[in-house]
Amino acid sequence: MLKIRPLAALDDNYIWLLTQSGSSRCWVVDPGDAQVVQRALTQYELHLEGILLTHHHSDHIDGVQALRSADTLVIGAAKDQHRLPELSLSLSAGDSFILLGRTFQVLEFPGHTLGHVGYFAPAEEAEQSPLLFCGDTLFSAGCGRLFEGSAAQMWQSLQQIMALPEETLIYATHEYTLSNLAFAQHVEPHNQALSQYTEGCRQARAANQPTLPSSLGIELAVNPFLRVQKAQVQASLREHAGLSEQASIDEYFAALRTWKDNFR
Ligand SMILES: [Zn+2]
Repeated sequence: MLKIRPLAALDDNYIWLLTQSGSSRCWVVDPGDAQVVQRALTQYELHLEGILLTHHHSDHIDGVQALRSADTLVIGAAKDQHRLPELSLSLSAGDSFILLGRTFQVLEFPGHTLGHVGYFAPAEEAEQSPLLFCGDTLFSAGCGRLFEGSAAQMWQSLQQIMALPEETLIYATHEYTLSNLAFAQHVEPHNQALSQYTEGCRQARAANQPTLPSSLGIELAVNPFLRVQKAQVQASLREHAGLSEQASIDEYFAALRTWKDNFR
């Protein structure tokens, strides 16, 4: 049975630690800080078998060099191998691999960066949940900034996520949820699910608990970036950004991303 723990790192990152019951083998996703991982390896008496990388930003890769030993596998995107730490396995969309008993499929998510990938593990048995390590593509109630890709590319990437099963657990890499929710409430002030979810997240943060993982079902109900096709979101965007009734979904999405970029 796969167990996944968040290791809080840097200002607001989570490094996901993957372990398997009855084994000392473990993997980490996006180790931006080696010390945080090393402390966990000592605390739980684990051997780091490998590292999954979603994209090349330093807060996701800076711990790799210090953590890797001769037998550590490092998996990342073939498209970005020129700017990632040296990879043992460089993968593209459609590739899959088995890790701690689960099969992971590689999805390509251009948008935040052009070579960004995600790792999706479908449920193979009744008691399993589908899992997605989505890096900085999807956050709870938000999405990644567009540093390299276009709004249209990011919307395409998010649509790939929207097509996954609703019970998929969303392992994003930043605790941005409360500030994302403040923006989401601004876009959809009458969204009941959003108000309820916000209350739960406030309580979690007040108790110093992570708001992640989220689930795709929750995100479909509260995340404005997955809701640009909804009448309420489009009406807010027409009012805020002066879009016409004829605007395309890509234009709505781009306007939403720009609005969030400038929201304080
Ligand atoms: Zn990033």
